Amino acid sequence: MGARKSYKAGNSYKDYKIATIGSHSALQILYGAKQEGFSTIAICEKGREQPYKNYKVADRIITVGRFKDTIKLQQQLVGEKAILIPHGTFFEAFGTEDIQKLKVPYFGNKGILKWEADRMMQREWLKRSGLTLPKIYEKPENIDGPVIVKFYGARGGKGFFLARNAGEFYRKIKERKAKEDVRAYILQEYIIGAPIYIHYFHSPLTNELEVMSFDKRYESNVDSIGRIAAKDQLDLGLETSYNITGNVPVVVRESLLPEIFRMGEAVVKASKTLDGDGKGIFGPFSLETVITPDLKFFVFEISARIVAGTNLYMNGSPYTELRYKEPMSTGRRIAREIKAAIERNELKKILD
Ligand code: AMP
Repeated sequence: MGARKSYKAGNSYKDYKIATIGSHSALQILYGAKQEGFSTIAICEKGREQPYKNYKVADRIITVGRFKDTIKLQQQLVGEKAILIPHGTFFEAFGTEDIQKLKVPYFGNKGILKWEADRMMQREWLKRSGLTLPKIYEKPENIDGPVIVKFYGARGGKGFFLARNAGEFYRKIKERKAKEDVRAYILQEYIIGAPIYIHYFHSPLTNELEVMSFDKRYESNVDSIGRIAAKDQLDLGLETSYNITGNVPVVVRESLLPEIFRMGEAVVKASKTLDGDGKGIFGPFSLETVITPDLKFFVFEISARIVAGTNLYMNGSPYTELRYKEPMSTGRRIAREIKAAIERNELKKILD
């Protein structure tokens, strides 16, 4: 947990700035902050400033050599009353340990990060939430159905492969080891169904859970393999990979929504049992699920932060339209939460 900071009463939101590093979902975050009337800062790596200039989402751009150099800007950012919004690239750049040490006010609960970062701790969290998870096989000899072999730290599912039994696993891992340095991996039951990524937002101010939107991923080459006949796939000796190239919008069958709300609420409730102060998860998070043909959800991962799939909805989703009746992206929803916390003098509830 980061050091507790004190926030003076009586401030206007205009005294604060919203800052993030220029990648992942920064356009959405900064645009949303501006829609809510905040001044914005984009911290960009040298040579990567153009989108933030061109789309006019940043009132100020600070250029750094590497994202990690943001650490050197801390005093300046604190002086400017900047609030940092984390996203996927932010976590990659800093790592969970350095994030704990950041002095700049941070939107989110740092205490929850270790529960997301470690696959086994994450599993414990999802289990405590009562969700259905794919099985994990302790050793290849136990494999009794399709498994997906996942490597720790693999960006965008790169290099993941499928196997049906121990023999196939050993053959494929050997091939992989010949090509690259293979470190830790898990053997997870492969669920055949429709992958759906659910984008939630939980407000600690109102204690309400919102379902913001959904996406599915566009992954190379798994999403194009269906264009090749099965016979040709075999002839070509094709193997699937899961490297993310983009995101595709989804609306779900409406009768699935009650279960989707129930799962999100269960995750929030369980998260309050994870860390000492009981704050749990708040702000945006996502459940990565596969829905089987009998309409059962298997949850294979949680992202305790804004996910890039929300970039589809800069202008709101069909679901946020129902609730807000104005364009409400996840980025804007974050800014609105910060604004509400400032106005209620409850910043402590949402910053770490
Ligand atoms: P991940 O890096 O865990 O998000 O996984 C990358 C991709 O692999 C996902 O987007 C899914 O397409 C697929 N995937 C991961 N785990 C499973 C699973 N247990 N069953 C089926 N597909 C999965």
